[in-house]
Amino acid sequence: MSVINDVIEKVRRNDPYEFEFHQAVEEVLETLEPTTKKHPEFVKAKIYERIVEPDRSIIFRVPWVDDKGETHVNRGFRVQFSNAIGPYKGGLRFHPSVNLGIMKFLGFEQIFKNSLTTLPMGGGKGGSDFDPKGKSDDEVMRFCQAFMRELYRHLGPDTDVPAGDIGVGGREIGYMFGYYKKIMNEHTGTLTGKGLSYGGSLIRPEATGYGCVYFAAEMLATRGLDFRGKNVAISGSGNVAQYAMEKVNELGGRVVTLCDSSSAIVDDQGICGDKCDFVLDLKNAKRGRISEYADKYSNAVCYIGNSVWDVIKNERIKIDVALPCATQNEIDGEHAIALVESGCICVAEGSNMPSTPEAVRIFKENNLLYGPGKASNAGGVAVSGLEMTQNSIKLSWTRDEVDQRLLLIMKGIHKSCLDAAEAYGKKGDYVTGANIAGFLKVANAMLAYGIV
Ligand code: NAP
Repeated sequence: MSVINDVIEKVRRNDPYEFEFHQAVEEVLETLEPTTKKHPEFVKAKIYERIVEPDRSIIFRVPWVDDKGETHVNRGFRVQFSNAIGPYKGGLRFHPSVNLGIMKFLGFEQIFKNSLTTLPMGGGKGGSDFDPKGKSDDEVMRFCQAFMRELYRHLGPDTDVPAGDIGVGGREIGYMFGYYKKIMNEHTGTLTGKGLSYGGSLIRPEATGYGCVYFAAEMLATRGLDFRGKNVAISGSGNVAQYAMEKVNELGGRVVTLCDSSSAIVDDQGICGDKCDFVLDLKNAKRGRISEYADKYSNAVCYIGNSVWDVIKNERIKIDVALPCATQNEIDGEHAIALVESGCICVAEGSNMPSTPEAVRIFKENNLLYGPGKASNAGGVAVSGLEMTQNSIKLSWTRDEVDQRLLLIMKGIHKSCLDAAEAYGKKGDYVTGANIAGFLKVANAMLAYGIV
């Protein structure tokens, strides 16, 4: 057995129920096989064995009281996976599905993603099985405070710097940062995604969605194509989806789908202009459901209980570019076949691991341009890194300055992926390229530290 197979087997054996973590480890390690030949020093130092084991996983009780005075108990997590190249950095997710396996998959992916940005950030991830949906602002505030009451002791601007993820947006970051500041009696850049008036960076809310579209544009350019006139399927309707939608419109594409966990909507005339404003207000202020879009715009069709990918499969909608921006494993093999048959040429992942291994295989076999999340959605953490820098130097950069840096970073990531893929005999394979380029920097740092 190869070193890689041994490590994958050991991960499966040690943590048999962490399915998403197994999937992420396999996806990364299988593409690292060529590095074991070129770098026997990594094998000798057991880098592959060490990189799949988090520095530490913290699990804690989060008790909080609802508006009726009833006490609830949720579970909190922070997986500090690797600080080889910088402080732990990665989002917090509040969603009922959160468990240790999902936190470890996301933290593991984050190591390579953060390395790809070229900024000095390690990998981590955290969150809770708390569901903010249907809770009042006061309940969300009490939960965030209870969560931070334990987490604060593990954080710090040079130790661990969380950000948002599913279920954690500006409101939640505000409550958590406010409480952290209060109990620590310091105002440092310990969370990112902060509001502009208290240390946030311009473009941070937009960064993941914009970055994903910048990355897709780079991929399309390799075939002499661009977004103009393209039909674009976006899933989700949260932070990443909203700003991917905005940037696609800016670049001349037509966004024809959105969804949430209850339904998908299709608007073949394009979701642009006032319709985008409606979506942002519906989701961010009213906290409503995407089905209300079809109530407001009569040409749109709502498919209750379906994802965007179900609808493309069932209704045979023509799609040129797919930007999954909702959650993990949202595109399975059948969805992937439907995308290929619909004429799709490019898939750039805004969400983390949205395509199952079978879907990825189908994209590759059919020569689609396929950008894995750790490369194509790295814009969010990249601008979080820029927020950390601005907090450290106590200056803030203009919108244009941050956007230009984001664009350059996404172009740089695209080039690193292609360069690494070619250097390791997998020309044009963005998955191999992203994994190897991200891995080498971290592995070299681990090697330099000796056995720690
Ligand atoms: P968000 O603002 O909470 O939005 C998530 C969206 O996805 C919501 O519309 C949600 O619908 C939908 N969704 C969640 N689970 C779903 C399911 N099972 N089926 C269909 N729709 C579902 O979160 P986000 O920040 O946009 O994150 C989306 C993805 O991007 C995640 O994979 C996240 O890890 C990744 N990501 C985020 C960032 C960032 O900066 N925020 C950076 C990198 C990667 P409901 O409202 O019904 O739940």
